[in-house]
Amino acid sequence: MSKTQFTTNIVHADRKLNPDSGAVHYPVVNSVLFGYENPQDLVDIFQGKQAGHAYARQSTPTTDALQSMVNDMENGVGCLVFASGMSAITTTFFTLLNAGDHIIASQFLFGNTPSVLGTLKRFGVEVTQVDVTNAQLVQSAIQPNTKMVFTETIANPVTQIADLDGIGQLCQQHNLVYIVDNTMTPSYLFKAKEVGASLITTSLTKYVGGHGTVTAGAVIDTGNYDWTNFDNILDSFRQQPAHAQALTQIKKKGLRDLGGCLSSDSAHLIALGAETMSLRLERACDNAMQLAQYLNDHDKIAKVYYPGLESHPQHLDAKKYFKTFGAIISFDPIAGIDPVKLLTELNLVISATHLGDNRTLALPVAQTIFYEMGLENRQKAGISENMIRMSVGIEDIGDLLSDFEQALMSC
Ligand SMILES: *Cc1c(COP(=O)(O)O)cnc(C)c1O
Repeated sequence: MSKTQFTTNIVHADRKLNPDSGAVHYPVVNSVLFGYENPQDLVDIFQGKQAGHAYARQSTPTTDALQSMVNDMENGVGCLVFASGMSAITTTFFTLLNAGDHIIASQFLFGNTPSVLGTLKRFGVEVTQVDVTNAQLVQSAIQPNTKMVFTETIANPVTQIADLDGIGQLCQQHNLVYIVDNTMTPSYLFKAKEVGASLITTSLTKYVGGHGTVTAGAVIDTGNYDWTNFDNILDSFRQQPAHAQALTQIKKKGLRDLGGCLSSDSAHLIALGAETMSLRLERACDNAMQLAQYLNDHDKIAKVYYPGLESHPQHLDAKKYFKTFGAIISFDPIAGIDPVKLLTELNLVISATHLGDNRTLALPVAQTIFYEMGLENRQKAGISENMIRMSVGIEDIGDLLSDFEQALMSC
């Protein structure tokens, strides 16, 4: 059979792992422990000489099946799944960084990631956050102890776009691990491997799962980075092939220490969602483009932040990197319109945190997800006090437009 493409690969992935039973879905194996007729097999699995399962904190056949699917989506050399996107990020940092190391991170990050960076500081890791829309600013932050650069693709809520290629080249020149959080632009829209990412972290809770029923995360090794050059791999994992050293350490040490393992039931739900990811994303991104244009033209809206609009400061970058412009729109109603009042008037759009769902969700940013950071930091991040962030879903566009039409009329 000739090489098949993205969605074909996903919907046939499980079946290929199940040739004996013919099941088109990988079975949900809800066993925590795995027993062996021959004790030597268990010994070999523990010693990494043989593939297999020992205990569900590190793997089950069902999480392995999901890993293989997600790995294929990103064209990686290995993947690990976790109980949430935050678990994937935290486990990666804590496993690969030591006290005294330095990490450069985007200053425009999903709100919980700076919390992890704060924790890293408490454990002696230096952190510098910079404006990643310009790779030169990343370059200026490099120190002799810099180990890693971490960025998202499209930031939330202001939709800044990182200089993904520029940072990739910089990391290659300086032998830095380049981690891209690809949650906002899943593999169907963007291949982080092609801009030089070493590791991709992603929240499967969002577009990959898509249905808002389960949390999960993943780390994918793209094979771009040669881990034999990385000081922080422990001796016991050096015996692995170069491309497998980091993921083995994250699995054997990180998942053990932090325990953020994904259950088989959850892995199955994510795999079901993944089957329709490309269809959902095309619909949601198309809806987002139309809504962004509608809001941009509306006289009760002062400003719209959406990479698909030509007025967006990194519109051309977005066009270069991503298949479409994503499904997150932020906007500021004009002065005098209370964002909470506007959300109250919307009937279809759900006031909820979360993004990447089938349903359109919105929230007042300054009053909710960025409330804790305070006014001064919000201003630094370019977040206005009446900003609304919206994650556009797959509803019929006419219904979404009518909902905004009637809501804005009442404000
Ligand atoms: C939601 C999100 C995460 C965290 O994922 P969870 O599955 O909610 O823990 C990480 N990064 C980005 C960009 C996100 O949007």
